[in-house]
Amino acid sequence: MIRRIDSAALLVRSVAYGEADVIATFFTRESGKLSAVVRGARKSTKRFGGALEPIHELVVTLEDKGKELCVLKEARIQRPRTGIATNLEAMEAAGQALRWVRHLCPARTPEPAAWRSLEDVLEALDTEGVRSASEARRHLAIFGLRLLTDMGYALELDRCIRCARVCPEGRSAFIDAAGGGIVCTSCGGARRTISGELRVLAARAQRAESVLLSWEIAGEIIEIAEEAMAAHADFDPSLQGRT
Ligand SMILES: [Zn+2]
Repeated sequence: MIRRIDSAALLVRSVAYGEADVIATFFTRESGKLSAVVRGARKSTKRFGGALEPIHELVVTLEDKGKELCVLKEARIQRPRTGIATNLEAMEAAGQALRWVRHLCPARTPEPAAWRSLEDVLEALDTEGVRSASEARRHLAIFGLRLLTDMGYALELDRCIRCARVCPEGRSAFIDAAGGGIVCTSCGGARRTISGELRVLAARAQRAESVLLSWEIAGEIIEIAEEAMAAHADFDPSLQGRT
């Protein structure tokens, strides 16, 4: 049976395939992550125009025969995000956000919360306010925590993940990000420690509250988020900066 999928989508990867084709991986609002053959994509740019670019919100029509790969029938840009395309810091942060989604979201599973968080971070990066690397990094750090929460992997930042003992507010703690949260001293602690300030800010970011993060704290949160993601996906944090 052939199913037709019409959906808002973001391109999360494209790889050359054969002589003229491309395999495009989309994160779609309706059906989650899907990969599709794009026939003739490298021969002629007429058919899909500039629609096979990351960052812009697309509308795609896919033909799904239930096999591993769908076939892309149509694609157009629904919401261009030229602010990101013209800003290197925003571009790098957006690329990282798309990579995280590609690695963390399973195929053919709608993830409405992750879709919203990804749209939010791309919108934030697209605004003219993102003039500095520090601003872009702050948005990315908050997105990392939100994405983990959306996928059911929220970090436990209030109590020890082993014995459930509550860690007093504002106090620094050991954190085992791959294990899912903070670990008390009696339970052996962990390699990494986080400050009381970071613990409070990260907890607020996980609840989708708006927080101001310094350059250092944002960087630390990104490292912690990637450690947590690595435990749940085919994700290698060392892939940072690559496609
Ligand atoms: Zn404990």
